[in-house]
Amino acid sequence: MLQNRARKRFGQNFLCDSMVVEKIIAAIAPKKTDRVVEIGPGLGALTTRMLPIVGKMMAIEIDRDLIPKLRRQCQHLGELTIYQTDVLKFDFSSLDNNDHHKLRIIGNLPYNISTPLIFHLLNYANLIKDMHLMFQKEVGERLGAKVGSKKYGRLTVMAQYFCKIELLFIAPPEAFKPKPKIQSAFVRLIPYKVPPYQSRNFDLFQKIVKTAFIKRRKTLKNALKNFPELPENWPEKTGIDPHLRPEQISIEQYVILSNLS
Ligand code: SAM
Repeated sequence: MLQNRARKRFGQNFLCDSMVVEKIIAAIAPKKTDRVVEIGPGLGALTTRMLPIVGKMMAIEIDRDLIPKLRRQCQHLGELTIYQTDVLKFDFSSLDNNDHHKLRIIGNLPYNISTPLIFHLLNYANLIKDMHLMFQKEVGERLGAKVGSKKYGRLTVMAQYFCKIELLFIAPPEAFKPKPKIQSAFVRLIPYKVPPYQSRNFDLFQKIVKTAFIKRRKTLKNALKNFPELPENWPEKTGIDPHLRPEQISIEQYVILSNLS
């Protein structure tokens, strides 16, 4: 039944393995005072477990056809506020915060929007206590990648600039309905109160990182050729070996580069 109803364009793969749901809840360890926002609650696999624990929570769901069913599932479990909208357009700073608690973001995400969604959420890092999110395994690995590895890229640098990241566990395709072709990874992201390496020119930092990884096979020197904001003698000024590839440059080194101007 679910199989027919699941909408591919909304990346709907519903969690159907209660062991995986319990692992997720244990990792999040919700408390009564938490301000939880769930992205893509779907038919409530996580919501129905979370709501009785926290008492009230918020959820953002794009598919209006799922919402009446979700409301029915949750009606006696607590107070659920549903925003029927596209999370990529959702302004997290609009959520009222009388109690000054930071947000806990959770979700089994639609795979088709995971990268833009991470970039969107990073804009609100200062409002967020933590994020516990299910991604396709590939994205989970890119998020947690170490400098020098093949998976280390723009997404890694930008996410690790703001957050401490832990890949918690892998979930098999069988945990979802319909069954996806790929494995999934459950990831914890905790925004730093103060990033360990802080860029004084964040726009330039973003631009350098983006440009560098467009040409990730080139040396950093070639990848950053014709980059007017950087002085030509940046290698001497920073001590960064210009013959290294973009994936061999640490976040600290990208920050140092961006702080040159
Ligand atoms: N949380 C449910 C579960 O684990 O069974 C559903 C997970 S399913 C992978 C992703 C959910 O996100 C779906 O309910 C889908 O409709 C919703 N969704 C997809 N794109 C969205 C968007 N842009 N904004 C908000 N929700 C979205």
